[in-house]
Amino acid sequence: MQLYPLFADLADRPVLVVGGGDVAARKAAMLLRAGAKVTVGAPVLAPELRELLQQSRINYRAGSYQSDWQDGMWLVVAATRSRPLNRRIATEGHARQRLVNVVDDPALSSFQVPAVIDRSPLLVAISSSGVAPVLARRLRERIESLLDPALGSLLQLAQRYRTRIRQRHADLAARRRFYDWLHDGPVNALLRAAQPLQAERQLVEVLSRREVPAQQGSVVLVGAGPGDPGLLTLRALRALHEADVILHDELVNPQILDLARRDAVQIAVGKRGGGKHTPQSSIHALLREHAQAGRRVVRLKGGDPFVFGRGGEELVFLREHGIACEIVPGITAALACAAYSGVPLTHRDHAQSVRLVTAHCQQSLDTLDWAELARDRQTLAIYMGVATLDQLTRQLLAHGRDAETPFALIENGSLPSQRTLTGPLRDLPALAIRHAVRAPALLILGEVAGLAAASHWHGELLGGDAGRLADAA
Ligand code: SAH
Repeated sequence: MQLYPLFADLADRPVLVVGGGDVAARKAAMLLRAGAKVTVGAPVLAPELRELLQQSRINYRAGSYQSDWQDGMWLVVAATRSRPLNRRIATEGHARQRLVNVVDDPALSSFQVPAVIDRSPLLVAISSSGVAPVLARRLRERIESLLDPALGSLLQLAQRYRTRIRQRHADLAARRRFYDWLHDGPVNALLRAAQPLQAERQLVEVLSRREVPAQQGSVVLVGAGPGDPGLLTLRALRALHEADVILHDELVNPQILDLARRDAVQIAVGKRGGGKHTPQSSIHALLREHAQAGRRVVRLKGGDPFVFGRGGEELVFLREHGIACEIVPGITAALACAAYSGVPLTHRDHAQSVRLVTAHCQQSLDTLDWAELARDRQTLAIYMGVATLDQLTRQLLAHGRDAETPFALIENGSLPSQRTLTGPLRDLPALAIRHAVRAPALLILGEVAGLAAASHWHGELLGGDAGRLADAA
């Protein structure tokens, strides 16, 4: 081990920062967070430091460095631009057994400051012994995304009740079970749901019992986005890391499932037109069975669970059966396909509103208000429409939508296999057949779609002016 790791309690202890620039300001701010009494010494101060001085949060030694600035200091940070000066500060400090950090200069330093993930009271600190600060920073970013922001509140709560927890569960094994319950159970869930009072009440209630409750199962309805794993939210990723069981739609990209906990059970509940079909009631039964067996279930859905995803029905079902439930939104196909084809869904000049529409089957087509949908200066984002493009086009034209209205039909949006087909409304069904467009595909119809030809940037672009049937004829 090249360095000895340690966490220093600097509360109310004097520390010295030499230097008045941005770097010194950052170091001072970090030390203040730990409650240190910070003295900054420099001829002039950067604006951030001046502000701290005005708020009386730091002491200030004006002028150039003097040896006696180090008197009474526990730690010294040298953050000046001059290496000879930094060296002098370090040499003088070390002669007096001070721990000195020279910023970005491990050779001159007797302590180094790690990259930190702060979920106080939990701190994760990473050091590469000064050899690879970039790696340490990257690792920090990774771990940062893995730890829920609510973790800090959970640990603070546990800290406040520590003595009572110890009294209630004197036995170590029972205490472990209690802490497992605390992390995996309703208290943490309530904190994540921004309900700290209820979380504390739940904790108090369980502490009044002799036994640690059996772990209750839960369900998280997670939006997996349109396909590109990069479009998952951090919360979705954390849910995948914690899941015991994953019930996923057929549409979910296998690369996303690869991000899940290795030993999680994965169950496909396919609902693809044509293929095998799991009725909604069986999905409900599966959710209930696994949750009631105490497992953490992730119900992973394409796009967003509440946009044509039947997430609403699943939520109602789970609540009816008293099963704890969280919802993690995902990027819905309309947003993803718009972004990945360079089509803004609204635009000051072209569209003041956007409608998400499903054109799934005859029944859904019959119930749509075509006169409304055919109005200009609005954008339609039509889901599940590939099989009904012909009827869709006829209805819109019959209700007065301009035949020249541009469309963008996006197949496999956000995936490497994405294709974007563009053209005028009147040619839509024929162009879709000519290019054999298949589900999943999303139709964007409206003035904004005319921007696709110029702004498209992902995957293959088909059609456009060259694809217009009228010109070809
Ligand atoms: N809940 C999902 C929608 C489910 S309905 C969401 O919010 O996106 C399924 C329909 O979504 C498909 O028929 C298709 O119209 C659309 N869709 C989903 N993923 C898509 C993708 N990657 N590219 C294009 N369309 C997609």
